[in-house]
Amino acid sequence: MAWKIAIDGPAGAGKSTVAKIIANQLNGEYLDTGAMYRAIALKSIRVGVDFSDLSAITDDDFEFVNSTDVVFSGGDIYLDGECVSDLIRTPDMSSKASFVSKFGVVRTRLVYLQQLMAKSINVVMDGRDIGTVVLPDADLKIFLIASPVVRAERRQKQLIEKSGSAPDLDTIIQEINARDLQDSTRAISPLKKADDAVEIDSSYLSIDEVVQKILCLFKERGLIMEDVKTLNEETKDAEVKEEAVEQEEKVESVEESSQETEAKSEEKAEAKSEEKAEAKADAKEMQTVEGVVVEVQQSEPEKTNKNGEVVKKAREARVLVKLDNDREGFLYMKEIADCESEEDLFFNYVPGDRVKLVVKKVYEDGGKLLLSQILLAKKESLKDFQKVIDDHGTFTAKVVKLIKVGLILEYNGYSCLLPTSQVNAKEEELEGLVGTEMEVAPIRVDLNRIRLIVSQNVANAIKAREEKSVYIASLKVGDVVKGTVKKLEEYGAFVELEHGVEGLLHVSEIEHNRVVKIEKVLNVGDAVECKIIKLDEKHIGLSRKALLPNYWKDFIDSAKVGDEVEGEIAEINKFGVVINLATEIQGFLPKSEFAYERDVQVEDFYKVGDSIKTMIIQLDSSKKRVILSKKQLPDNPWNTVQLNTGDVVKCVTLKQLPTGVKFTTLGITGFLNAVNYGDKTEFAPGDEFEAKVRLYDPKQYRLTVTVKEPRPREERIRRSNDVSEMSKYLRNQEKMNATFADFLEKDEK
Ligand code: C5P
Repeated sequence: MAWKIAIDGPAGAGKSTVAKIIANQLNGEYLDTGAMYRAIALKSIRVGVDFSDLSAITDDDFEFVNSTDVVFSGGDIYLDGECVSDLIRTPDMSSKASFVSKFGVVRTRLVYLQQLMAKSINVVMDGRDIGTVVLPDADLKIFLIASPVVRAERRQKQLIEKSGSAPDLDTIIQEINARDLQDSTRAISPLKKADDAVEIDSSYLSIDEVVQKILCLFKERGLIMEDVKTLNEETKDAEVKEEAVEQEEKVESVEESSQETEAKSEEKAEAKSEEKAEAKADAKEMQTVEGVVVEVQQSEPEKTNKNGEVVKKAREARVLVKLDNDREGFLYMKEIADCESEEDLFFNYVPGDRVKLVVKKVYEDGGKLLLSQILLAKKESLKDFQKVIDDHGTFTAKVVKLIKVGLILEYNGYSCLLPTSQVNAKEEELEGLVGTEMEVAPIRVDLNRIRLIVSQNVANAIKAREEKSVYIASLKVGDVVKGTVKKLEEYGAFVELEHGVEGLLHVSEIEHNRVVKIEKVLNVGDAVECKIIKLDEKHIGLSRKALLPNYWKDFIDSAKVGDEVEGEIAEINKFGVVINLATEIQGFLPKSEFAYERDVQVEDFYKVGDSIKTMIIQLDSSKKRVILSKKQLPDNPWNTVQLNTGDVVKCVTLKQLPTGVKFTTLGITGFLNAVNYGDKTEFAPGDEFEAKVRLYDPKQYRLTVTVKEPRPREERIRRSNDVSEMSKYLRNQEKMNATFADFLEKDEK
């Protein structure tokens, strides 16, 4: 099954440049559909469509398209057999093409031709409606865009390069905008991005960057496509090599014949040389010739004299034919198919009959030619092998002889040349192959020499492809397959299964957890076991994670928001705490969810490896994220601890800061301001001390204590039991880090 790439987009987006490169790199054909509309525009002018009054032009004016031929060959476009590649590349033809492309009759014909051309070949086609109308089933659809200014600049550059001059940029922008408008607003098949097309903006990308992007998308989509490429390449390669052999063979035969000529000319008289030249000039071996039957000669027995010596050799029955170039030749019975007897010969060949034959042998001395009807039949039937070539067929042939350029094989009476480069053996092993049978693929029909050119390498490639196909056919979705990682790409890994078949293990299918860098999980050469999750004519989609335990699913099935969970601390960083909750499952406790109190450092309470109890406050399956909270645990001590100002509490030092001591008591943390130290002024973590509650405000998660006796104003506020007043006072005092007297003074001012 051939692959198809559709590239659509406005004029000047770079479609044709990119499409050509891609077709070349992927060994496919490039079809420029815009050129076809241009060719029709050219023909419209030629047939006299009157462009002076555009509004008067109708579908009827384009009836001629139905009998118009537009074909591509060797990179050129032919309009009814005439190469028009240059004639259609003018600004006038651009706008006329855009105009004629509006008409239904034109579009129907060209879409029909385009679909016909694309049938069963690998193709990159560019235009305006390829993804939407011409190739709706394309394997890859690209919508290539670029800003009008960039497109105009490119167009201007192109025109200057081609013709040395170009209109100014504004004129080109106007022309581009007009064309865009015409193309995207016409009623039939307007320029439109297909729903499944990938949009690429080429404004700020180099040609190579666009090409790479498309190639990447191509690869991402299919793998079996590569097989087609390999096989075609193999055949092409074989053809190229075979051509080289052909050249070599020619040289060889020239050398041989010149050697022969030399030898003979030594033996024979020089007087014959004129005849030789003549003989060579008007008859060539294996050439098809026509002529008239002159005479049918009976067979004659051998004649001997009385001594028993042969005086005249026996002669087979034969037909004397005079060719149109006046040369004469003999057609012997054995050179005629189905000619069993002399009667047959006399019956089939009557003097005066016109006959078509092949020259089997030219005698250099000017003797009569040896003609063959069998070879003519063979020449005709040899053409049938073109279908075998097209269908990538093979056959088994017998090696009959080793020649300088390779091996001669025989298949069903046909002679086959197997060039050395196409044999899967070392040169010194070739002789040993004579007499054996081998499977070969015909790669070219050589009508001039009435033989086939065959290749063992191509046959092997075809066989490998067949094995691949059989293997692919044996696969089904759900199968577990083993393979080796062949190549790593950003989007996944190519895994080689059996018979060179590759599948794509997409990055999302490697592990249940998100894989950011594939190289961290897989390396080229790694053996992997995967499950087939997608299988169609061109893709084999693999999943490795499908065979791995799904820890996330197990976890999510049993966990819900609000659950209390216990885990081991894996990491404490500046954002919070990473906690191992279950195999391969980690939760994150943000710093803000550790405690209600401000300025509490996780490290003051926990270290890596400690067990910690938290509560699930968020579960995000798409991101496989578990967010935890410690402070929201239901046994929040701020809800249960009850303290009054003046109560004595036992405190354990967490940390001493220049401004005071952070401590914990009854599961909550509090602060002893330095101004409220008693005799003890140095506190080490873990040091215990007793202190009196100055302020306990569970709503604000605030506890402050004093070791020193409270000051009179503070005592007054305390007695009034006004928490907010007290809080305000303490805040001020701590902020200023001033004495109470200072504060009073300030207050009174
Ligand atoms: O691509 P290019 O500029 O050579 O195309 C010439 C014109 O042919 C375009 O402006 C567009 O109107 C028309 N066209 C089309 N459909 C396509 C290709 C080209 O209508 N598939």
